[in-house]
Amino acid sequence: MTDFPQQFASDNYSGICPEAWAAMEAANHGHVAAYGDDPWTARASDAFRHLFDTDCDVFFAFNGTAANSLALASLCQSYHGVICAESAHVETDECGAPEFFSNGSKLLVAKSEDGKLSPASIRDLATKRQDIHYPKPRVATITQSTETGLVYTPEEVQAVSTACKGHGLKLHMDGARFANACASLGCSPAEVTWKSGVDVLCFGGTKNGMAVGEAILFFDRALAQDFDYRCKQAGQLASKMRFLAAPWVGMIESEAWLTNAAHANDCALYFAEHAREIKGIEVSPVVEANAVFVTAAEEVLAALQERGWKFYTFIGGAARFMFSWDTKRERIDQLCNDLRSAVAETLTAAVR
Ligand SMILES: *Cc1c(COP(=O)(O)O)cnc(C)c1O
Repeated sequence: MTDFPQQFASDNYSGICPEAWAAMEAANHGHVAAYGDDPWTARASDAFRHLFDTDCDVFFAFNGTAANSLALASLCQSYHGVICAESAHVETDECGAPEFFSNGSKLLVAKSEDGKLSPASIRDLATKRQDIHYPKPRVATITQSTETGLVYTPEEVQAVSTACKGHGLKLHMDGARFANACASLGCSPAEVTWKSGVDVLCFGGTKNGMAVGEAILFFDRALAQDFDYRCKQAGQLASKMRFLAAPWVGMIESEAWLTNAAHANDCALYFAEHAREIKGIEVSPVVEANAVFVTAAEEVLAALQERGWKFYTFIGGAARFMFSWDTKRERIDQLCNDLRSAVAETLTAAVR
């Protein structure tokens, strides 16, 4: 088999980390009950309760779109509104799934400079209209770490939650890169979630090193009522649930969830530091998780693509580079070299 070279277009270009893989293999012995009634699912759920130091309700879904959409749907009636930042994945990258699974709850989108949802914009949207003709705001959702590669500190989450409470809103956290945020902040999972007022967290496993799977944690357990039915109806109840659950056991018990994220974050810092030395391009001034954004002339980006590099430009308005658990320094060096020569080539062409 060809060994395809590493790309940084997304952190989901990477494969499965050894800890998740080993746990899958360990789960592949004998027969156990289906649909989540098995020892692996119980052990994974307990691992989450231990990790978060609280007695939360835990569910598993195949992907983040389903996890977010079903979690939001469980917090809303069809006439409700969900406040989010304009760059939120639920708004830009889920094909209307939150609206679909909630039977019509509307996303109420807040302008944001840096991709974060501010307490002020929550207050603005929550009080914008009080009449029967506008959807009733019911939930706010924040992404940790953000689509723009930033993190909310526990104090910031607390401030968001205070704004929510003042307007009777529940607080959901899209944690597709929750591990990266924890590694960056150096704080406990509890501190930045339920202790700061988060009601429901979608904890991403895929971008963290698993093959597939996200966990949905209800810190307010009353909100989890009938969530199992929601998952089943949406086609998200795995019959061989042990294979969705076991990788979490491997990730949490080995702490790979955190070391993987820390490695990815370190790689982002390493790339940013070296890319900043290249004159003629602009690199995100702040790197708090595993994303780095590069602003460069179209010709430079085209020249980089010609050198075989893949990246997205539709997120955050610049070329985005994401690092993951298996990123190799040498490959980042290659990217920097190619970026440098792409800039030089474009300059030469301009002089001619
Ligand atoms: C990747 C991602 C998700 C999940 O996406 P799926 O492709 O549905 O697994 C959710 N939120 C954010 C911010 C993401 O980056």
